[in-house]
Amino acid sequence: VHIVGAGPGDPELLTRKAWRLLRQAEVIVHDRLVGAEVLALADPTARLIDVGKRPGGKGYRQSEINALLCHLAGQGRRVLRLKGGDPFVFGRGGEELEALRKRGIAVEVVPGITAATAAAANVGIPLTHRGTATAVTLVTGHGEAGEPDLDWSRLASPRHTLALYMAVRRAPAVAARLIDEGLAPGTAVAVIERASTPQQRTLRATLDGLAALIRDHGVRAPALIIVGEVAALAADDALAALAPASRPYEEASS
Ligand code: SAH
Repeated sequence: VHIVGAGPGDPELLTRKAWRLLRQAEVIVHDRLVGAEVLALADPTARLIDVGKRPGGKGYRQSEINALLCHLAGQGRRVLRLKGGDPFVFGRGGEELEALRKRGIAVEVVPGITAATAAAANVGIPLTHRGTATAVTLVTGHGEAGEPDLDWSRLASPRHTLALYMAVRRAPAVAARLIDEGLAPGTAVAVIERASTPQQRTLRATLDGLAALIRDHGVRAPALIIVGEVAALAADDALAALAPASRPYEEASS
């Protein structure tokens, strides 16, 4: 089984290795986040299994996905487990790796471009920046039981970039918590929705205006929220919108 990162959406952001494995796979078990343009690169005879989870909706449980991967591998198939972004960044790839290894199944993990680096690149936000951002932390806005169990006081430190995944719904609470812990309410924030796809949208606010921004613009997942001084460097939407339109794959897929 190959556990492979599909990147953030743009097929040109796949690694060559991911692309090769995608063409060779007999069975592809993929998430909802993996876009149609990426799946279109699979061998036409490959079987595609969508195990995509919707919040509150129907989807495979993690234990079922683990069992499915073991079952398919046991049949001697070339199995590709394709995940959005990087499999080891909030992708539960580690759990799948453990389950497969426990059954003695050979596994290779192939990294992918994660949402934080893709979104940052597309809008011109350096996640680290000499003098203004000496650390970057990838944070989930969504814990096992709602509120993630994090040391917020350490996250609320200056010259530190936060890349918040799965945080649209909890953004108001996260922003309030960071302000409580001493982060300046005027700290820059950028929200990048559907980064690297033709629907990419970039919005900017300050920490104390994040809740209103999300509400007023109807921001929806998947979106990445970047908090920190560097977020002020985000390109205006008009500028950011140029990038997807210039992509050759759109022509190729039409
Ligand atoms: N393994 C993935 C993350 C999966 S968690 C990765 O490395 O990127 C799902 C979250 O990732 C979403 O809620 C969103 O916060 C983020 N995300 C994934 N793809 C995205 C995209 N194209 N644009 C913005 N955020 C994205």
